[in-house]
Amino acid sequence: MTPAIQRDNTEGSIVTATATRRTTKKKNQKSTRKPRAPKMVYVFGPDKSEGNASMKELLGGKGANLAEMTSIGLPVPPGFTITTETCAAFHTHGERLPDGLVDQVEKGIRFTEKASGKKFGDLKNPLLVSVRSGAAASMPGMMDTVLNLGLNDQSVQGLAQAMGNERFAYDAYRRLINMFGDVVMGVPHHDFEVAFDKIKKKYNVENDTDVPTKGIIELCEAYKKVYKKGTKKSFPQDPRVQLHASIGAVFGSWNKHTAVTYRRKEGIAGLLGTAVNVQTMVFGNMGDDSGTGVAFTRNPSTGKNEFYGEFLVNAQGEDVVAGIRTPRPVAEMPKWSKPIHTHLLKIRRVLEKHYKDMQDFEFTIETGTLYMLQTRNGKRTAQAAVKIAVDMVKERLITRDSALTRIPAGDLTQILLPHFDIATKKKNKAIAKGLPASPGAAVGNLAFTAKDAAQRNEDGESVILIRRETSPEDVEGMHASVGILTSTGGMTSHAAVVARGWGKCCVAGASDVIIDAKKQKATIDGKTYGPADTISIDGATGEVFGCELKTKSASISEDLKTILKWSDSGRRLGVRTNADSPEDAKRAREFGAEGIGLCRTEHMFFDPERIKWMRRMIMAENNAERRSALFKLLPFQRKDFQGILAAMKGLPVTVRLLDPPLHEFLPHEREQQMEMAKDMGITFAQVQQRVELLHEANPMLGHRGCRLSITYPDILRMQVTAITEATIACKKKKIDARPEVMIPLVGTKKELSMLRDLAIATIAETKKAKKYKGKLDIPVGTMIEIPRAAITADEIAGEADFFSFGTNDLTQLTYGYSRDDINSFLPDYIDQEILPIDPFQSIDSTGVGALVEMACIKGRSVKADLKLGICGEHGGDPASVHFCHDVGLDYVSCSPFRVPVARLAAAQAVVMENERNNSVKKTKKKSKRKKKATRK
Ligand code: ADP
Ligand code: MG
Ligand code: MG
Repeated sequence: MTPAIQRDNTEGSIVTATATRRTTKKKNQKSTRKPRAPKMVYVFGPDKSEGNASMKELLGGKGANLAEMTSIGLPVPPGFTITTETCAAFHTHGERLPDGLVDQVEKGIRFTEKASGKKFGDLKNPLLVSVRSGAAASMPGMMDTVLNLGLNDQSVQGLAQAMGNERFAYDAYRRLINMFGDVVMGVPHHDFEVAFDKIKKKYNVENDTDVPTKGIIELCEAYKKVYKKGTKKSFPQDPRVQLHASIGAVFGSWNKHTAVTYRRKEGIAGLLGTAVNVQTMVFGNMGDDSGTGVAFTRNPSTGKNEFYGEFLVNAQGEDVVAGIRTPRPVAEMPKWSKPIHTHLLKIRRVLEKHYKDMQDFEFTIETGTLYMLQTRNGKRTAQAAVKIAVDMVKERLITRDSALTRIPAGDLTQILLPHFDIATKKKNKAIAKGLPASPGAAVGNLAFTAKDAAQRNEDGESVILIRRETSPEDVEGMHASVGILTSTGGMTSHAAVVARGWGKCCVAGASDVIIDAKKQKATIDGKTYGPADTISIDGATGEVFGCELKTKSASISEDLKTILKWSDSGRRLGVRTNADSPEDAKRAREFGAEGIGLCRTEHMFFDPERIKWMRRMIMAENNAERRSALFKLLPFQRKDFQGILAAMKGLPVTVRLLDPPLHEFLPHEREQQMEMAKDMGITFAQVQQRVELLHEANPMLGHRGCRLSITYPDILRMQVTAITEATIACKKKKIDARPEVMIPLVGTKKELSMLRDLAIATIAETKKAKKYKGKLDIPVGTMIEIPRAAITADEIAGEADFFSFGTNDLTQLTYGYSRDDINSFLPDYIDQEILPIDPFQSIDSTGVGALVEMACIKGRSVKADLKLGICGEHGGDPASVHFCHDVGLDYVSCSPFRVPVARLAAAQAVVMENERNNSVKKTKKKSKRKKKATRK
C-alpha cells in the first residue's frame, strides 16, 4: 500500500459517522499497526444478519429492511450491503472504490455463496447476483440496478444445463449485457433496442417473449457487438470485474443529474450517498410457475384495508416497474396460484404487525417458491394516509399520537383539492379510461414531451403531460404539469409512484390512448388531439375527458374529521384564518378556523363604485375634501365588516387598517389616467402630477402601513368608525361581533401610542354618536413586521393589546430580500445551498425566528397576558407551525384551505414536544440510576 493511499484511508474514517470512528479508534488502541479500513460490508442471510431496520442511514432503506426481513424469518435471497459511508468515500476519493472494500466484498461473496449453496463464477451452476442501489430516503427509479451479474460465455451454458432451460439462461445473459452496457458503461440503451428489433424482425415476431431460443442466443452475440462498438472493449468475462465495476456505477449514479434534481425537488438533503446491495438473484422468468410483482399491504390510493398490488407471470422484476407489460391485479392471483396468494396474504399480516405501518414490497416467485426482495413504508395519498392512520388506531396497531404523526400535515391540502363536479362529469362521456394512479382533477392542454411541458408551464400555460410511459428524465416536466397521463404501465409505474408522492393528479396505463410524440398528436377513440387541445383527467377514477370540465372543491371525510378532532383535543395553538370576505370567512369556519387573524381592508376598495372615492381622497387638495371623500367610503366598509363579523360571530376578527402605498389605487396606464381625469372633472395633467408625486423609489419601504394614518389620520378615523358602527349594528341584532383593530408596519412606540389613542377616541365618539349604551370591547394591537418593532417589543407592548407577527414583511426586512424580486436569485441560492429553502415559504427559525422569539419574550415581560399570533403566510406551513408552537404563540392564521393543515401540524408539535420531554426524562432517570449504582 502506498503512503498516499494510507492517508486517504485515515481521512475516509474522519468523514464517516461516529459508530465507525469509534471502532477504528478501539482497534487503533489495541494495536499500533496501520489503521484498518472501517466496516463497509454488512451481510444478511438465514444464519446471520448484521443490519436491521434502524440502520437506514448507514445501509439505506433497502439494505436495512432486507436485513430486518431476513431476521423476522421472511424468505429473502441472501447477500450483503455496502454502506452509504463507502459511497461518500468513493466520491471524496476521486470515484475510486476505497481501500479495503474489495477484500470485504470478497468476504461478503463467500458468505453469500455459503448461504445460497452456489459459487460466484462457477461454470456449472453459477451464483448470480443483483447489484442494487438504495439510499436512506426512497428515490424510486432514480439510481441504477444491474441484474444477473456473474454470467459469461461459459457459465451461461452451465446455467442452461443446471436450470434445464436454455432460453432462460441466454435471456438472463442478454439482459446482463444490456444492463451492464447501459448502466455501467454508458452504451445507449437504444442501440440494444435496435439490435433486438432486428432479431424480432428476422423471426417475424412482435413480442420479446415470442423470440425462439435460437434468436435469443443470436441476440447475445449481437449485444456483445453493440457493447464492443460502444465501449471499444469486449464484454468482461470475469464476474469480479463485472461486480466491482457495477458497485462503482451504483455509487456514481448518486450524483447523476436526474438523481440530484429529484433530491432537490423532494427536499432530500444531508445524506451520505447510496448503499449498494449485492443479492442472490432469483428468477421470475423461469416459466409459467414463476413471476414477479409489487404489492402494498393496504390500498395506497384510498387507504382501504385490502391487499393491493400487481404481478406478472414469467417476468423479471424490472418489467413491472418499467411499465413495458401491463401487469395483473393481485386479486386475480388465486386463479394462477392459490398457495402463493395465501403465502403473500400471510406475509402481508407479518409485515404490518412488525412494521406497524403500511408496506410497499417487491416479490418474485421462482418455480413456485416465493421470495421477498424489498419492503418499505409505502407512499400513499393524503386520503389514504388519513384512513390508514385512523384504521390502525381502531385495530390497536398504533396509538392516537402516532396516528397524528403519520400524516404529513402539508399533504392534507391534497384532500382539500378540487375534484370534478359529478353532474358535469355525467354530462360528458369519458373518451378513455386508465388506472386511477393519483387522485385529483386536472385540466390542461396536451404536452407531448417533458421539455415542452416545462417550457409551457413557465409561459403560464396549464399542461397535462401525455406519454406512453415516463422515466426519471421526465421528472422536471412532470413537476411542471398539472396532471400526467400515460398509456402503458400500472399503478406502480414510474409515473404513478412519482405523481402520488407529489399529490399530483395522474392517470396511468390508459391503453386506448395512442400517442405519437414526434408528430405531437394523440388518437383517442378515433379523434386526434394536439398541443392546443384541452383535456381533463380524473386521477381518482382514471377517466379521461376530451374537453374542459368544471372542477369543484373537496369536502372533509369522516376519517379526516376524526383526525382533526384528535388534533383539536391535543393542540395548544389556536388556528385562525386570513380572510377578507364573508364567503371566505364562512368556508374557513367550516374548515375549523377559530377566528380571523388577518382581515385585509385594501381589497375592499377596488370595486368601481368605491375606487372613485378612494381616488378622490388621493386627489384631494385639502383635509376637508379628503375627509368628505373618505367618509363616502364608510358605508361600504361598514357593510363589509358587518358581513364578516356576522359570519364569524362569537369569534375574533382582526381587521388590519389600510396597508399599501396609495399609488396602488391610481391607474398606471395613460389611457386610464385620462379616463379618470374625465370622470373626476380634473385635467389629465393634474392626475399625472399626483401620480408622479406618489411615485416612490422603493414603495415597500415607503409611505405605507401606519405611516398613512400618521399623515392622513382620517383614514384611520373612517376605518375605525366603520368597524365600530358595524359592531354596534351586529350587537343590536344580538350577533356576538368581536372585532380587533390591528395597526400595520409599526416601528416605534410613538407611532403606535398616537394611533392607538386616536382609535380609542374614535370608538368612544362613534359609540356616543350612535347612542350605544352597551359594552364595546375592541382591542387595539399591532403587527410586528419591522425588525425594530421586534427589538423594542417591550416598549411597544405597553401600547398594544396584542401582537401579530407579519412574517412576510419581517422576512423581507430581516434578509433585505424584496419579496417581489426574489425569484431572480432565489433559484441560485437554493441550488448552491446558501438557503435550505425559500424563507418566505418556511420560516427561517434561526434569524427571523429569533426576532419573533425575542419579541414574544420582551412583550410578555411587560404584559403577561399579551396575545400573540402570526398572520404571515407561514401560518399554513407545518414546519413554521411547529416553530410557532415552540415559541409559545397563542395562534397561527393562514389561508382557509390550509386551516386543517395548521390544526394537524399544531397537534403534531405537541406530540413531538412530549416525545422530546419523555426522552429527556428517560436519560435523566438513567443517569440517576447510574449515579446511584456508582455510589453503591
Ligand atoms: P429500484 O430501487 O429502482 O426499485 P431495485 O434494486 O429494487 O431497484 O431493482 C430493480 C428491479 O429488479 C426490481 O423489480 C427488483 O425486484 C428486481 N431485483 C433486484 N434484485 C433482484 C434479485 N436479487 N432477484 C430478482 N430480482 C431482483
Ligand atoms: Mg425496488
Ligand atoms: Mg406587512
